[in-house]
Amino acid sequence: MHHNAQFLTLQLRRSVLAVSLCVSAMSGAHAQTAATNSLVLEAQTMDKKMDPCTNFFEYSNGTWLANNAIPSDRARYTAYDEVTERNLLALKALAETAASANLDSKVKNPVTQLVGAYYQSGMDEARIEAEGAKPLAAELAQIDAISDRTQLLAVIAKHHQIGVGSLFNFYVDQDAKNTKRYIPQIVQGGLGLPDRDYYLKTDAKTLEIRKQYQKHVEHTFTLLGDSAEVAKQNAAAVLALETRLAKASMTKVALRDPQASYHLLTLSGLAKIDASTQWTNYFKDIGLTEPAEFNVGQPKFIAEAGQMLNALPLPQWKTYLRWQLVNARSKDLSSSFVNANFDFYGRTLAGTKELQPRWKRVLSTLDANVGEALGELYVAQFFGPEAKAGVLEMVENIKLAMRDSISKLEWMSPETKKQAYRKLDTIVVKIGYPDQWRDYSQLKVDATSYAGNNMRAAEFEFKRNLAKLGKPIDRNEWGMTPQTVNAYYNPTMNEMVFPAGILQPPLYHVKADLAANYGNTGATIGHELTHAFDDEGRQYDADGNLKSWWTKADEKAFLKRVVGIEKQFDEFNPIDKLHINGKLTAGENIADLGGDKIALQALRNALKVKPQAAEIDGLTPEQRYFVANAQSFRGKMRDQSLRLQIATNPHSPEKYRVIGPIANMPEFADAFSCSASKSPLRPEAKRVTIW
Ligand SMILES: [Zn+2]
Repeated sequence: MHHNAQFLTLQLRRSVLAVSLCVSAMSGAHAQTAATNSLVLEAQTMDKKMDPCTNFFEYSNGTWLANNAIPSDRARYTAYDEVTERNLLALKALAETAASANLDSKVKNPVTQLVGAYYQSGMDEARIEAEGAKPLAAELAQIDAISDRTQLLAVIAKHHQIGVGSLFNFYVDQDAKNTKRYIPQIVQGGLGLPDRDYYLKTDAKTLEIRKQYQKHVEHTFTLLGDSAEVAKQNAAAVLALETRLAKASMTKVALRDPQASYHLLTLSGLAKIDASTQWTNYFKDIGLTEPAEFNVGQPKFIAEAGQMLNALPLPQWKTYLRWQLVNARSKDLSSSFVNANFDFYGRTLAGTKELQPRWKRVLSTLDANVGEALGELYVAQFFGPEAKAGVLEMVENIKLAMRDSISKLEWMSPETKKQAYRKLDTIVVKIGYPDQWRDYSQLKVDATSYAGNNMRAAEFEFKRNLAKLGKPIDRNEWGMTPQTVNAYYNPTMNEMVFPAGILQPPLYHVKADLAANYGNTGATIGHELTHAFDDEGRQYDADGNLKSWWTKADEKAFLKRVVGIEKQFDEFNPIDKLHINGKLTAGENIADLGGDKIALQALRNALKVKPQAAEIDGLTPEQRYFVANAQSFRGKMRDQSLRLQIATNPHSPEKYRVIGPIANMPEFADAFSCSASKSPLRPEAKRVTIW
């Protein structure tokens, strides 16, 4: 998860529902060769002294929790992070090999050259250090030269092209109500803190974070050469401007309603909302022929942004743009900028103790900017056809179990069921890596210019995205890189995507006990599949259009169940007086519960065809299923990171993703023969069953 607010905003750009902070990358080829029955289930990490009926998370993970500390360069440490760490070592070796190949003029593979030169530029610490803020000189001069509102808007347009999210965000994506075409999307943005609430809440913890943020902005201005006094005034000006944007922004909960962020407009329609902004100029500046129609996600925000553009003093805007620019690019610059950025976003906001070593930071930049080039090298070494076949088989079994579950639902009418089957049958599944690799040949990468590479990469991505307008939908495109330890469901494409990175031990092993594979990766597949039918995903039809296919009565019956799960999670209190936000996390909690149930049913079906050992490590297949599931969520996090997650993340903290679902599942109590007095099962009246 990115701690930088910039990334958080950009993550909103696609309504992708990701399984989140789980991760499972690679240990290398050796991990795929051994074959024992409990490869994925790690019995040695359990604590069997615990009672599974009362402390299932600790029963499944107790020894792991006791033996693992959070690494000092991480805000959290989970099963996904374990895999990510291994993955990073593998990627490091690939990048280093590519870098030495790049120095050898005989090596002509363009992908190797790209990765090699890019990695080299990022590792050239002496050069980066010597340059200080110089790589931003041209952009800073542009801001400085602004003398009227037209130029102000032009610089904002320039920022959008180089990956700086000043004032609002712009990108091209499918029209949510006509997914056969791409349209421009204009959405809220422009903040430096992770969410609007950080500007507006008045509890002690938020006030302290806000104070630290303002100090950080101030410090950054001094690094740019402002005097202490001027830096202080400038930081106050930034806070005032961003606070006004925050007030006009929609909450994260409100953003979960896709209808609320859909407003198809023409230029004259936009002029009615925001008469002051010269939108024609903006479109021209970003290289777009005047669009006939586009979506304005949050009209109230855009109206306010327009008023501010027109009314606030130019010097305040210039100060804000300097901050936005340097904040987005701090990580490319010398150590004083990098350390200041880490000190606030890493240490204060997430509780991380130490900055990651340079090679990890450079790899994550490469992953974000040229991730498919890195991915091409990665999958050649770490992802085989057997894994793909094994996962596909699980996907098919899980889809069948979902179909079966839908057919038995008492609360859904035959009419709605017919549409649900249609949606289920048309879901596209992508496994491992794209069929066609992204073409980076137009991106100029220079081994001596890290910041320049990052800016050009942002520009390259902006142009690549813009070029989609008017073209057919690219069904080959991936929203995650192959080495990512995560997965997602994308409702407008009606597709589930499982990168090679997540199909690795201990999350998946081609030769593992079926029960363990189903409890782990199977439940992830079920989770993503259920996103197609969660409170958000269900609003999209089989063609990905935001269009209701539910009868009124079925919708009512479904929403009643959603309220049940919201209330259940509202009660959980992981830290301080902070409760999980049931509404913010509803979609993910529905997917966790659904995934857990559907994958278990799929396992039961699979066991009929491929019986597994009746007992391994003293556990039955269904017990192994539940333990593997709980192990996929093993993890711990720093207090600050936990607070940040509760405030901003649609996923519940790991432990609750285990104990929440099983409290609704009699299957669990049966598997562990829990007595009525010692069962995690909630009373029948409160129990939530959706699928
Ligand atoms: Zn999810």
